[in-house]
Amino acid sequence: MTRPVLIAGGGIGGLAAAIGLARRGIASIVLEKAAHLGEIGAGIQLGPNAFHAFDYLGVGDAARDMAVYIDNLRLMDAIGGEEITRIPLDAAFRTRFGNPYAVVHRGDLHGVFLKACMDDPLVELRTSSAVASYEQDDGAVTAILADGVRVTGSVLIGADGLRSKVRGQLVGDGAPRVSGHTTYRSVIPVEEMPEDLRWNAATLWAGPKCHIVHYPLSGWKLFNLVVTYHNDAPDPVAGQPVGHDEVRRGFEHVAPIARQIIDKGRDWKLWVLCDRDPVMTWTEGRVALLGDAAHPMLQYFAQGACMAMEDAVALSAELDGAQDIPAALARYAVRRQLRTARVQLQSRAIGEHIYHPEGAHAALRNAVMSQRRPEEWYDQVDWLYGSTGLEGAVSAETLTRPMDFVTA
Ligand SMILES: Cc1cc2nc3c(=O)[nH]c(=O)nc-3n(C[C@H](O)[C@H](O)[C@H](O)COP(=O)(O)OP(=O)(O)OC[C@H]3O[C@@H](n4cnc5c(N)ncnc54)[C@H](O)[C@@H]3O)c2cc1C
Repeated sequence: MTRPVLIAGGGIGGLAAAIGLARRGIASIVLEKAAHLGEIGAGIQLGPNAFHAFDYLGVGDAARDMAVYIDNLRLMDAIGGEEITRIPLDAAFRTRFGNPYAVVHRGDLHGVFLKACMDDPLVELRTSSAVASYEQDDGAVTAILADGVRVTGSVLIGADGLRSKVRGQLVGDGAPRVSGHTTYRSVIPVEEMPEDLRWNAATLWAGPKCHIVHYPLSGWKLFNLVVTYHNDAPDPVAGQPVGHDEVRRGFEHVAPIARQIIDKGRDWKLWVLCDRDPVMTWTEGRVALLGDAAHPMLQYFAQGACMAMEDAVALSAELDGAQDIPAALARYAVRRQLRTARVQLQSRAIGEHIYHPEGAHAALRNAVMSQRRPEEWYDQVDWLYGSTGLEGAVSAETLTRPMDFVTA
């Protein structure tokens, strides 16, 4: 490739792509809108597939060092206060999927990629560089920045997130879908977490149209708190500070043990969650989408960042030695589209059937989930955790079962 790859967006997806390409000897320029490269202060869950991607991208050791390895995924009934089920993440899990399940601070995860990029002469990082549009011809593509600066490369990757400008031009499908689910996030020191809830687990308290998630972070120094209320919020707010009373309002009906979490949280910030329907248009000539720009999803499968990293793996594999760039990008899209579409759609289904049901629907969830043995649960996620995403499309058999979390 004679010119560098241009990457719009220096989030987890964009930096993972830059480092994946560098490992294949391909130079890139990351064009980041913000004045500083960084991530919000919150946690993120990583399935084994994220670790497969870390290894492929050459950051496996650094990523393993900053992770907290939890023992279980615990599903609790937020109204009754009792445990519905717990899924062990023990040696049997790691053996089955070849890697662990872990939780990390977003800043730490982003920092692993950022350090790798800064240390690699093939990656150039440019901040305060908002990509507004692009132009291309048979030989090159030019990113046009909001300030009029033009940057020319051989490929443009739109890794510019949920409100991607590259997607706006490439797909043109308007604003993302506002889900009406309001999420409030807080991170607290471990000493402030109620002692009876200091579990080495990613815990989900599922209630009617609401849920609470917590898990330890950063070497057990912090706890990540995420509470979500399906209140049909109409506007796509992002990162707005809110007071305690607003957060409490959606959770007055949950069991006191779970409600403590809201009392303990501080400096809450609010997001109204958005996603999109999957699309089959990811590329146009020398331009392709990656991460949330390609497949924004609700967080209920905890896979958005994992999918972005898998995209980076598949993209770098396809561009390695590619002569025909549009054909290589088209192959990348084919490898990724059905797998990410499945995660997008299943994320919605999990929200509806696991996180937020009420009444008989919740009782059915409890009955189904409490009877499932760990091996049965592992079978359900084998297509996801057992794969690097390099294998391409999922099988026809698994595609017929988008709801298998609740119906199998
Ligand atoms: C509440 C919540 C919980 C989540 N939990 C998990 C989880 O547990 N596990 C998981 O895997 N995923 C999780 N996710 C999803 C995950 O956060 C995202 O999927 C992931 O961060 C997407 O990364 P990205 O790099 O594609 O996009 P982003 O992180 O949005 O990065 C985009 C970057 O592009 C920049 N940018 C934007 N516009 C432009 C422009 N025009 N020009 C240049 N730069 C631009 C932005 O400043 C940003 O740096 C969660 C999401 C939410 C909302």
